[in-house]
Amino acid sequence: MIEVINLTKSYKKLDVLNGISVKINDGEKVAVIGPSGSGKSTFLRCLNCLEDPTSGQIIFDGVDIADMKVNINIVRQKIGMVFQQFNLFNNKTVLENIMLAPVTIKVRQYRKNKLFNFFLPFTNIFRKNKLNKIELEQTKKEIIAAEKKNAFDLLSRIDLVDKANAYPATLSGGQKQRIAIVRTLAMNPKVILFDEPTSALDPEMVKEVLDLMKRIARRNISMIIVTHEMGFAKEVADKIIFMDEGKILEMGTPEEVFDNPKEARTKEFFSKVL
Ligand code: ADP
Ligand code: MG
Repeated sequence: MIEVINLTKSYKKLDVLNGISVKINDGEKVAVIGPSGSGKSTFLRCLNCLEDPTSGQIIFDGVDIADMKVNINIVRQKIGMVFQQFNLFNNKTVLENIMLAPVTIKVRQYRKNKLFNFFLPFTNIFRKNKLNKIELEQTKKEIIAAEKKNAFDLLSRIDLVDKANAYPATLSGGQKQRIAIVRTLAMNPKVILFDEPTSALDPEMVKEVLDLMKRIARRNISMIIVTHEMGFAKEVADKIIFMDEGKILEMGTPEEVFDNPKEARTKEFFSKVL
């Protein structure tokens, strides 16, 4: 479903990604491991259109999203991202954080469809226009009500319904990250990218976040997870990617990569982290 072909990224003279090629299937769970500075975050950021690749292709559902002409908003609806530092909106409540993107997008889509109909020939422009305003308000209300219900459903699944009206500053790191994760689920993405989701957490909160990720992993949703949690990677991932100096040095099943690493650099990395 995602095919990355010879992806490169350079900042001025610094080559950060040096030709990444990989296929990620529907529902596949991929763990990306490797030393600091090897380009793992840059790789994820390219997949989510947060960075423009220098060259190469990222084919997602048949469309090259590395091409500047694609609509980034449409891509981001389908590819969610979870960051090390949570990236919640601190001036919005938990509920607002979860609802904001889906409500905005659904209202925008509704307007767009209406506008399209408006320009169809032989329509009664005045009547349509007047209807639109009333309909738009009504539709907005319906969208907000549906997304509110969905947000409460998501919060109940992580036992945080009582935090719906709280602000992020009042939450623990583990709570913030679990909310950031269900916030991506509210968009119904096909893929979720995780960039070291537990690295900023106190040790006692790592488990609650990994447990939530394991529950999501049972669904038919693709997950690409940059992590230093090797036990978790081994348990959850179908495929392990070991990155070094902007390249995929080694790729295979957890058994292949963890139990029988082929490359000296991989062995050296494991000797430090396992
Ligand atoms: P990782 O996530 O594996 O630690 P990164 O993708 O964050 O690696 O970074 C890879 C390299 O790219 C590092 O040398 C980093 O300094 C460099 N880099 C990342 N982002 C930028 C940027 N915006 N400008 C310049 N260099 C960058
Ligand atoms: Mg990183």
